[in-house]
Amino acid sequence: MQITRAEVLAAIAEYDALGRETFLSRYGFDDATSYLLHHAEERYEAAAVLAAAHGYLPDRSALRASELPSRKNAVELHLRRLRFDVRRLKSPSWERDEVILACDLVRQNGWHWLSADDQRVQELSELLQLMPLHPAEVRGPKFRNVNGVARKTADIATQHPDYRGKPTKGGALDREVLADFLKRPEEMQTAANTIRAGLQSGMFEGLAASPDDIEDTAIAEASEGRLLERRHYARERNPKLRKRKIDAALKERGRLQCEVCDFDFEAAYCERGRGYIECHHVVPLHTSGETTNRLQDLVLICANCHRMIHRGTPWLTPDELRLLVRRGWKS
Ligand SMILES: [Zn+2]
Ligand SMILES: [Zn+2]
Repeated sequence: MQITRAEVLAAIAEYDALGRETFLSRYGFDDATSYLLHHAEERYEAAAVLAAAHGYLPDRSALRASELPSRKNAVELHLRRLRFDVRRLKSPSWERDEVILACDLVRQNGWHWLSADDQRVQELSELLQLMPLHPAEVRGPKFRNVNGVARKTADIATQHPDYRGKPTKGGALDREVLADFLKRPEEMQTAANTIRAGLQSGMFEGLAASPDDIEDTAIAEASEGRLLERRHYARERNPKLRKRKIDAALKERGRLQCEVCDFDFEAAYCERGRGYIECHHVVPLHTSGETTNRLQDLVLICANCHRMIHRGTPWLTPDELRLLVRRGWKS
């Protein structure tokens, strides 16, 4: 190919004029490739641009996708030689929630890995695409495809203590999740079921990523993953439920007190603290089903105690925290 910078720039101008969709369909490229060309603060599908650039050479026509050099990275190298900024779109790393679903599939399969043509791998691949954890712009064309999912099942299965061969190179997260499944099989299975059901029903859509007031890096990720964690925070911030809980406590005791350490915001801060307290949702994260509206699932708790419950994994129960507080008082 004798394509120079000039032809590539001409192709980019055409891309700009037509828009991405039309440009891609004119040159017969489907939606996405692994490489993006960054130019003047825009991003372009690198392979399609190079193929189109060929048509700007005198007496040549554009290349079809199949006519591009098949050698790995050839498109990228060629554009780089012409001093273009080409970046590979890497699939984002697996989140704990995703590994939990993959691990549960391996468990169902008797702790053996599954192959890419297995129907269950296809189904998991589709489910992972529904997870609202990785925004569309960071997903590469191979994002969680059947090969990637099958590879993940092998990474997990070969870490199992009963596996006799050489493990594939899985990550620390794979080992952690597998260890959770072996230690707490029922809870982790229920967590997997709950995540699956939530994805299918769209329950996790629009849930805030994490409590906006928490910047402490010691707030560890729950072993059940981020989605169930989001559901937890959404539940305890549900304004209607909070109000009912607070009204009930006021009616019963006439004041609001932390159920762990007895702290009373109004007693400490006078008028400014009146009516203030936080709610903590006590139903374990992995629990399935919608149990959003039960007052008895909420505990009234001061901001310090609430922070301490969520600081570190596993989260403490209010009773466990109460014991710690007592110990702190004695010493
Ligand atoms: Zn407290
Ligand atoms: Zn909480």
